[in-house]
Amino acid sequence: MITRSPALVQRAPTEEAQPLAMTPAWQSQLARAVRDPRELCRRLRLDPAWLPGAETGHRLFEVRVPEAFLARMRPGDPADPLLRQVLPLDAEAAPTPGYVSDPLAEAEHTPQRGLIHKYAGRVLLIASPACAVNCRYCFRRHFPYAENSPSRAQWEQTLDHLRDDTSIREAILSGGDPLAASDRQLAWLVERLDAIPHLKRLRIHTRLPVVIPDRVDAGLLDWLTATRLQTVVVLHSNHANEIDDAVIAACRRLTQAGATLLNQSVLLRGVNDSVEALAALSERLFEARVLPYYLHMLDPVAGAAHFDVPEFEARELVAGLRESLPGFLVPKLVREIPGEASKTPL
Ligand SMILES: *Cc1c(COP(=O)(O)O)cnc(C)c1O
Ligand code: SF4
Repeated sequence: MITRSPALVQRAPTEEAQPLAMTPAWQSQLARAVRDPRELCRRLRLDPAWLPGAETGHRLFEVRVPEAFLARMRPGDPADPLLRQVLPLDAEAAPTPGYVSDPLAEAEHTPQRGLIHKYAGRVLLIASPACAVNCRYCFRRHFPYAENSPSRAQWEQTLDHLRDDTSIREAILSGGDPLAASDRQLAWLVERLDAIPHLKRLRIHTRLPVVIPDRVDAGLLDWLTATRLQTVVVLHSNHANEIDDAVIAACRRLTQAGATLLNQSVLLRGVNDSVEALAALSERLFEARVLPYYLHMLDPVAGAAHFDVPEFEARELVAGLRESLPGFLVPKLVREIPGEASKTPL
């Protein structure tokens, strides 16, 4: 994906001599992400015994880990909480009763390509089918992304839906990861959303500023600051070790651009299933001026059963958090139940 940044288009004549197709740094980092299970195991200095499982899992859902995220893992430690999120395991191939390919029944709620309108007042738009990292527990690991990657004509239909329904207050850019789209595409879309009078808010659900903090660059800040819509960026991180200094700096750029920052996490066995890990995450997020929003129960997606934390344990963990943190640092524990009008608080 090679595109011309809109910032470049508008800039002074001195820059016109530059090649038109200058690739932003984040796109090069994305293109160079580790996508081979053997390389992942080698780089993390894992015992070769992990390799067959990694290859099995990779055939079900491909490995993808950018360097900037990999660099935050401890080599030689298969229990590293960041590695656990991206390392494919044999267990993914074991069928588990109740774990299915579309646990949220999203296929039923996609009236047109790239649009999911399940909740009142807000609409979720699939702005990019791709992700910067492939998380093994992802509820969309079997989602038919290719079929949900809309063309310009389909975007016009989606925009018509938003224009026609005046009850919609908020457009949520989702994916995949919406920030995996180019700034040229995003600027085009946001400009059109901006022109819909009843829309008040633009929300962006993204893991990219955590995975590749360089994604928050001038090209992104250009369209984010240009919109009249109030902007909310909902990050996705699951462990304090994900929030390094570069992530904190990226969050600062987003808050300076006027965005409200929230975070959602998934409760994951072996990653953040302790009061200490969840409290450290909340504290670290707040250092980046991010408020914890949701702590999701794992969606029962086929291949992810080994990450499950039972509900009684989840409630105990959140009770423990409440005893040790101020209320604003305790995320809401929720489960998504297909057919419900909102996430279900536990
Ligand atoms: C989670 C979700 C939203 C946003 O819900 P909030 O509770 O407002 O964060 C919107 N649409 C869909 C389809 C969702 O899954
Ligand atoms: S970034 Fe989000 S959508 Fe992408 S693989 Fe991870 S959990 Fe799934």
